[in-house]
Amino acid sequence: MAELSYTEPKPKTFAGAKGDWELVIGLEVHAQVASKAKLFSGASTKFGAEPNSNVSFVDAAMPGMLPVINEFCVEQAVRSGLGLKADINLYSAFDRKNYFYPDLPQGYQISQLYHPIVGEGEVLVDMEPGIARKVRVERIHLEQDAGKSVHDMDPNMSFVDLNRTGVALMEIVSRPDIRGPEEAAAYVAKIRQILRYLGTCDGNMQNGNLRADVNVSVCKPGDYEKFRETDDFSVLGTRCEIKNMNSMRFIQAAIDIEARRQIAILEDGGSIDQETRLYDPDKGETRTMRSKEEAHDYRYFPCPDLLPLRIEQSWVDAIGDTLPELPDAKKARFVTDYGMTEYDAGVLTADISDATFFEKVAKGRDGKQAANWVINELFGRLNKEDLKVTDSPISAAQLGGILDLIAKGDISGKIAKDLFEIIWNEGGEPAEIVEARGMKQVTDTGAIEAAVDDIIAANPDQVEKAKLNPKLAGWFVGQVMKATGGKANPKAVNQIIAEKLGL
Ligand code: ADP
Ligand code: MG
Repeated sequence: MAELSYTEPKPKTFAGAKGDWELVIGLEVHAQVASKAKLFSGASTKFGAEPNSNVSFVDAAMPGMLPVINEFCVEQAVRSGLGLKADINLYSAFDRKNYFYPDLPQGYQISQLYHPIVGEGEVLVDMEPGIARKVRVERIHLEQDAGKSVHDMDPNMSFVDLNRTGVALMEIVSRPDIRGPEEAAAYVAKIRQILRYLGTCDGNMQNGNLRADVNVSVCKPGDYEKFRETDDFSVLGTRCEIKNMNSMRFIQAAIDIEARRQIAILEDGGSIDQETRLYDPDKGETRTMRSKEEAHDYRYFPCPDLLPLRIEQSWVDAIGDTLPELPDAKKARFVTDYGMTEYDAGVLTADISDATFFEKVAKGRDGKQAANWVINELFGRLNKEDLKVTDSPISAAQLGGILDLIAKGDISGKIAKDLFEIIWNEGGEPAEIVEARGMKQVTDTGAIEAAVDDIIAANPDQVEKAKLNPKLAGWFVGQVMKATGGKANPKAVNQIIAEKLGL
């Protein structure tokens, strides 16, 4: 398997009034498990349903109802763990995290504190070609999502929608290995990309399908390296946690703002209180949500309603056998197989559907040319219309058909763009359209020669000038193209003009 080599990026430094500071960031990503049913009930997880229509007695915590584990959700967590190169724990168990909130009818969340299903793994966070940060994953555990309180529908009342209650989440906890705002956003993007490849999370951040709690601290240059040697957290600064971030842009902005806030306090001789903060994008600030003193005492204890999970290594191996080719491997293969740049390979593998589309176009064709067309023409056009590749009006087969016509010499690159536009708007089979609309390139040298002769005969002045300055031959090329409606084979035209003018 091909692999690209990387060097680590430098940590981002912040210049304070009293010297440089560095950031240390650890993320807790909450990813909704792609599953039709909830973690402990058979209720549907469909997004956007009528409020409280996807709620079973278990989700509503009716007395006497017992949770039953959804095996598929466990499988998805294992698949995710394997995709993040993590250890799978054959023994894991569920715990109750107790707190009161109107959208949590049980009065506790079932989670995995003491024995998570997935142990240590790692993620390669590519920043630019050749540069990537290796971020260690500490654990992934399975837990239930809470419902939603709705405060903005009535002046006197709040409502509760329990549709989301009990939906399976994977909490993916990183080690504090992320060293800047851009890296943090890129880390979330990479996790999202891998989970989407695996099919274990849709990663729709607008719907809250993937959200992150961001832990930020600042330290002096050299401190982080000491931490990596000793694993001693006390050499790092005190962290603050920014809750519930659901956009890459906000993650970056919030970290930047939070870092500057902490640096200002420290340089002023103050100290950082460990606390949970909220980011307010309108005000461009983070503010206290709750301090350590107010932190919940969750009184975790093993959930008596659920037996521990014991899974077989053979089951884990079987899941491992079905893993798709993951982004890093696919990107490396695109570079070696198609001879494209790492940058282009990154663009084409950003989303699994992009990569699949590209490979359909490239199959049996010139890979580099296919990459060019997919990236520049197709993605360019899709971006303009704010469409995804899965909504593309041009199929991979149609785009491949256009490339075949170029390869055969039936159409020039320029005509191919016109053809692309026609198919984009009207659909149709490329070869048929070219035939029906007379778009075929004129390679018949006789016809081109005749056109060249006509133009030379009609423009003796230009002929004299071109003979003195061969660069002016381009004018003749333009004229021939005009005369043939852009259909003359450009190579043949250049050749014939050069011959006739004696250049
Ligand atoms: P909690 O439940 O209290 O949030 P977790 O262990 O679930 O604790 O997650 C803590 C997160 O904070 C992890 O991602 C960890 O890497 C990160 N973290 C721990 N110490 C620091 C620090 N000094 N600076 C930045 N991040 C940190
Ligand atoms: Mg946590």
